[in-house]
Amino acid sequence: MTLLLPPNATIGLVGGGQLGRMSAMAAARLGYRCHILTREHESPASQVAAAATISDYQEPEGLRRFASAVDVISFEFENVSAEGLDLLASLRPVRPSPKILRTSQDRVTEKAFLNRIGVPTAPWAAVQDLDGLLAAVAQIGLPAVLKTTRLGYDGKGQTTLRHRDDLAPGFAALSPKPLILEDFVDFAQEISVVAARGEDGGYAAFDTVENRHRNHILDVTLAPARLAEPVDRQAQAIARKIADALDLVGLLAVEMFVDRDGRVLVNEIAPRPHNSGHWTIDACPASQFEMHIRAIAGLPLPAAVRHSDAVMKNLVGPEETALWPAILAEPGLIPHLYGKAEARPGRKMGHVTRLFPRGSLPGEFGITAALGPVAPHGTVC
Ligand code: AMP
Repeated sequence: MTLLLPPNATIGLVGGGQLGRMSAMAAARLGYRCHILTREHESPASQVAAAATISDYQEPEGLRRFASAVDVISFEFENVSAEGLDLLASLRPVRPSPKILRTSQDRVTEKAFLNRIGVPTAPWAAVQDLDGLLAAVAQIGLPAVLKTTRLGYDGKGQTTLRHRDDLAPGFAALSPKPLILEDFVDFAQEISVVAARGEDGGYAAFDTVENRHRNHILDVTLAPARLAEPVDRQAQAIARKIADALDLVGLLAVEMFVDRDGRVLVNEIAPRPHNSGHWTIDACPASQFEMHIRAIAGLPLPAAVRHSDAVMKNLVGPEETALWPAILAEPGLIPHLYGKAEARPGRKMGHVTRLFPRGSLPGEFGITAALGPVAPHGTVC
């Protein structure tokens, strides 16, 4: 049965970060209140929400208090324990379903699921111990990437193994956590698709975008990705296949590699708003955050129309945050700041977007010039 949330209903969001903040802002525009579950006082999301429960994500009493105050529960943060998810789902509708979160929380479960439904990934193997790593390397070869199966993000919990001498130190750095070894993909591009799906199977996918990372953290997103048509079709078809196979109600981001032969391989999926979808706030009538809220509230999903091309640049750490006055003074840059008190190195503090008329995304030089004070590092200005 479709749950149609009436205006003024309360949406519970697990997680207090910037994704929750921007979801709460979109929910407010649709006439909803948001109640945030977070460990932090003064979190980016709770600053713009109607209410917050401050609690650990695994603590039953906190989860119960939170659930009793809301009408439906969703996430901006995926790492709630299986027991915590079951408890929440026993009290209120949870969207996307706990089953989907369990699939995406663990890289082995996630990749096994993707391969089972016929979605290609880099070759991979689960690794329990050093002997297992040696066996996995014999099968997959080097270079390869060794990752923790859970709780990795922005390059945390992973190391690239290039030579046999790297195996023991790489394993020691990440064990005793369960690990996965993945073939190193010599990719031509990293791309992603963000898509929403409603309970009635209604589906809306934003255009495929190109993502560039620096120090394993997303630096720049180009919308749309500059891709050959068949590659773009593969990427969009993969996102649709995953959303349907998961019977998703909510939002899904699919991160993919395009290899040198134009084959698309999935790196990971996230059943929530995604950093590579921030451009949609400024370049689309309904952003990824609005799509998320609409999907979990049972509202109709509009087409994921892009009225402009866009370049989005993250503001990471103290150096890029220090450019804020220059960013504000730069005509045409659309600034977003997340309300975080301290700009620690590697911390995402905000982002800026610049729009271009459809079809006129500039080349490399133009992209760099367009970002003015926050031009990407390592490119010519
Ligand atoms: P992840 O935490 O899996 O999203 O990885 C973060 C980043 O590391 C990706 O966006 C890639 O730039 C890089 N990376 C991860 N896995 C691989 C791989 N198997 N081959 C090459 N690069 C990778």
